[in-house]
Amino acid sequence: MELTREEIAAVAERKRAAYEAVIGLEVHVQLKTASKIFCGCSTRFGDPPNSNVCPVCLGLPGSLPVLNRQVAELATRTALAINCQVREQSIFARKNYFYPDLPKGYQISQYDRPLAEHGRLEIHVPTGGAGKKTRKKRIDITRLHLEEDAGKSLHEGLPESEAKTYLDFNRCGVPLMEIVSEPDLRTPEEAYAYLTTLKQVLEYIEVSDCDMEKGSLRCDANVSVRPVGTEKFGVKTEVKNLNSFRYLAKALEYEIDRQVALLESGGRIEQETRLWNTQAGRTEPMRSKEHAHDYRYFPEPDLLPLVMDAAWVEDIRRAMPELPAAKEARFVEHYGLSDYDAEVLTANRALADYFEATAAKAPNAKTAANWIQTELLGALKEAGQEISRSPVPPQALAELLQLVEDGTLSGKMGKTVFEKMFASGKSARAIVAAEKMEQITDAGEIEKLCGEVLAKNADKVEQYKKGKQALFGFFVGQVMKATRGQANPRRVNDTLKKLLG
Ligand SMILES: [Zn+2]
Repeated sequence: MELTREEIAAVAERKRAAYEAVIGLEVHVQLKTASKIFCGCSTRFGDPPNSNVCPVCLGLPGSLPVLNRQVAELATRTALAINCQVREQSIFARKNYFYPDLPKGYQISQYDRPLAEHGRLEIHVPTGGAGKKTRKKRIDITRLHLEEDAGKSLHEGLPESEAKTYLDFNRCGVPLMEIVSEPDLRTPEEAYAYLTTLKQVLEYIEVSDCDMEKGSLRCDANVSVRPVGTEKFGVKTEVKNLNSFRYLAKALEYEIDRQVALLESGGRIEQETRLWNTQAGRTEPMRSKEHAHDYRYFPEPDLLPLVMDAAWVEDIRRAMPELPAAKEARFVEHYGLSDYDAEVLTANRALADYFEATAAKAPNAKTAANWIQTELLGALKEAGQEISRSPVPPQALAELLQLVEDGTLSGKMGKTVFEKMFASGKSARAIVAAEKMEQITDAGEIEKLCGEVLAKNADKVEQYKKGKQALFGFFVGQVMKATRGQANPRRVNDTLKKLLG
């Protein structure tokens, strides 16, 4: 039974709160290797169709696979980064199924002895409401295994009777890791946070470019619902084709509502694979869910077991770059940043590196953190630009902060100069010199300016002296106006106080 969108929305609105969702994610990650997992063909994306193929990845008779050593290393690095136990001996298995873009008629994968198991990842879930509060939650990871990717089918032409399908085998044999979480996620927000954190870790350790548009990070979700307060899992569906973060959240929301509405209408959830239809904004049945035994798994006879001995694993562990959680803790400890600032600045490695390079030269790390978060990230967002291509490099920002610190520029002028730096790529000093923007800090000059303002407003000085204190702000404003904001505000304040006695 398939309900319409309207029927689902109507029931879900009333009954959604009575149910709890149970979500597990299966994430496929393309490893960043130059060559494929079992042959020497290039993994380059976007090459002409069928230009990166050989007898091994085309599955021609008599060809034999040889495991790419770097695949084992990158996958092990990932396993360690997500706190998995690496199996000393893992086994490749044949997963048998037919698909036009799978020329061998089976996929080499791992089954009952995967590379790694029993991992965990700590995620930050927004608590909603006002502020930027998050809560931490631990998500367990069932397993991480290796497999080869299939090719691509490209369908073209309508009507269907005249349609053609083209096959591109370039992607055949590109190395993949599949990372399977336990069903620990309870809301679309948690699933979103989990995928964000996982992607962040994968990017930090440089095992994948994680480009969802190119398909190097793909996500399927297992979803079921159960009445709040019960333990027993409901029947789950698998939702495929979640190739962006936005679709992941939307598809989960829809699928949870659909299951709630179906149960409330007396229907039954079918265990099936469903596809997220981006245009229609709904999940649609694709096929009934296959079971492991449908694939007739058996050990791959052409490959030896993968042996990750302790010394090799230790070498990989030693070469591990600093992970996001450790970096975040260090930013709080070493630079005195707030938890929130540290979380924002470690969101990706390029941003964290930018901050550290700025802080090394800037007069104050906390000021640098503030400027990066408000001025720089704001300007980058508006320009649709990545931090790695920022027109203001770290040392240029540090120089600007120095000018603000030593009083050459007021904070407000500094922001104006920053905008000009961002637009032109020029240095702060060059802009200040060219536009004569130095702050006026000379005591004699400020006293002269203040005196002029007071002389021009003798009537207001009279009122001030009779007790109209609020006029003080007016005098400050007049001096600032006369100097186009270039007078040092604190000195103007002090001088006016002195003159008004
Ligand atoms: Zn090949």
